[in-house]
Amino acid sequence: MSYKSDIEIAREANKKPIQDIGAKLGIGTEHLLPYGHDKAKISQPFINGLKDRDNGKLILVTAINPTPAGEGKTTTTVGLGDGLNRIGKSAAICIREASLGPCFGMKGGAAGGGYAQVVPMEEMNLHFTGDFHAITSAHNLLSAMIDNHIYWGNDLEIDERRIVWRRVMDMNDRALREVVVGLGGVSNGFPRQGGFDITVASEVMAILCLAVDLKDLQKRLGDIIVAYRRDRSPIYARDIKADGAMTVLLKDAMQPNLVQTLENNPAFVHGGPFANIAHGCNSVIATTTALKLADYVVTEAGFGADLGAEKFMNIKCRKAGIAPDAVVIVATVRAMKMNGGVAKADLGAENVEAVELGCPNLGQHIANVKSFGVPVVVAINHFVTDTEAEIQAVKDYVDSQGSEAILCQHWEKGSAGTEELATRVAELADSGLSQFAPLYPDDMPLFEKVETIAKRIYRADEVLADQKIRDQLHAWEQAGYGHLPICMAKTQYSFSTDPNLRGAPTGHSVPVREVRLSAGAGFVVVICGEIMTMPGLPRVPSAEAIMLNDAGQIEGLF
Ligand code: ADP
Ligand code: MG
Repeated sequence: MSYKSDIEIAREANKKPIQDIGAKLGIGTEHLLPYGHDKAKISQPFINGLKDRDNGKLILVTAINPTPAGEGKTTTTVGLGDGLNRIGKSAAICIREASLGPCFGMKGGAAGGGYAQVVPMEEMNLHFTGDFHAITSAHNLLSAMIDNHIYWGNDLEIDERRIVWRRVMDMNDRALREVVVGLGGVSNGFPRQGGFDITVASEVMAILCLAVDLKDLQKRLGDIIVAYRRDRSPIYARDIKADGAMTVLLKDAMQPNLVQTLENNPAFVHGGPFANIAHGCNSVIATTTALKLADYVVTEAGFGADLGAEKFMNIKCRKAGIAPDAVVIVATVRAMKMNGGVAKADLGAENVEAVELGCPNLGQHIANVKSFGVPVVVAINHFVTDTEAEIQAVKDYVDSQGSEAILCQHWEKGSAGTEELATRVAELADSGLSQFAPLYPDDMPLFEKVETIAKRIYRADEVLADQKIRDQLHAWEQAGYGHLPICMAKTQYSFSTDPNLRGAPTGHSVPVREVRLSAGAGFVVVICGEIMTMPGLPRVPSAEAIMLNDAGQIEGLF
């Protein structure tokens, strides 16, 4: 049996005008700022007017430690949102915008898959409403103003060796990781080493996603540390006087985008921070707006639950004052097998024993999420290659952990494949069982916060860090940053910092390589292992297969 590609399905979508989708949420057409016929931004004045309304229920979709292709969190988020609408609930989904890097690289798009997708899929994966362009411009404006400040005399006494603000571009381009800027003589400024990160790794992206309004946005932009003086005192974006113009560039990008699923249900697609050096969730403003407009809001956090859900709870929820009412952990038979030691090439063959061996990975995620005080249900995202015995093995295991696993077939069947999950999730969210609490209090010392995450979530024995790193954390505490949450950057493939250590390892240690202060975003980044902030393209990038066909349609996006 052959299946249609994501883009073929998306092209056949029976889209409704975006005004009809807005109407489902009670948004009048005067408050929708349309970008074409099927995308709109929601106006800031309308959002401001929602403040006194009650919130709907918040449902987080997260996953086990994944295979390189992803486990279908976005696909399941869309499928569950459609499923809730199918059983008669008012539900919206909130997901991240797509980056061009992965789209032309290896991972493909970010609009879901099969019959659980957000449309217009092509536009969502390409230029969309220009938010990433605005973020790139705001980021690079600050970069330009720093070099310009030095050029005109450097009144702030920036130490050119200690400029920490780089440049960004929304493309996987390894050649730009380290560059020399200012070559070419006196009129071009001072030569110095610089570099590019991908736009989704910009602190401006994280700020846009955590800011509650434009005022908060400008304050956070001003708080960005761009460089240090010889005496190591920080220089802020505010000192460079860039925060006002950056806010102007970001004014429209701050308004959440509304699109629709294949089943014409509302989807907020807004913001897209990296899930390693940033927190990996869509914007706070989209989530809080959706909560005012729908009874159920389904949202996704990047990577597995050890990173994505942990940061969703400890960073986003803490900062935004929101709390999940239920959590869905997406598991796939193939990722269970991978955690059970099967190589990627062999994932197609039935292997119940490997599934069973991999299940403790799922078990640890279930226990971790429960430790935040939130009820959990497991969604088995069904792949057509899964066998009955393999699926039963996952169900039996989850039963033995005192939870429930529900088979979902949204990729093949759309909302018809998630009725059972939607019913159960609505029950859990309505049950009032959630007693959400973040893992650590604001006033815990920074290093203890890292230890808490490492021991309670990763089940490591210890955190290893040089005196230099501990001193740096201490210095930030002295400087008034001790209350910030931690943003862990480690491999997504393991609970540990070793991507090859699958399953549910214990007895490992977490070596900290570097710490960075994202003072504007409001978190301390703790880097464990190699973290790439400017990815490269693979030997055969997806871009090679992307083209226009004779009908002028895009081929090759997935
Ligand atoms: P994540 O959000 O976890 O990274 P996605 O939802 O983006 O994962 O899915 C990753 C890829 O896997 C997409 O190309 C999607 O079409 C595909 N996919 C997801 N679920 C299924 C499924 N049940 N069967 C086949 N392919 C799937
Ligand atoms: Mg995703």
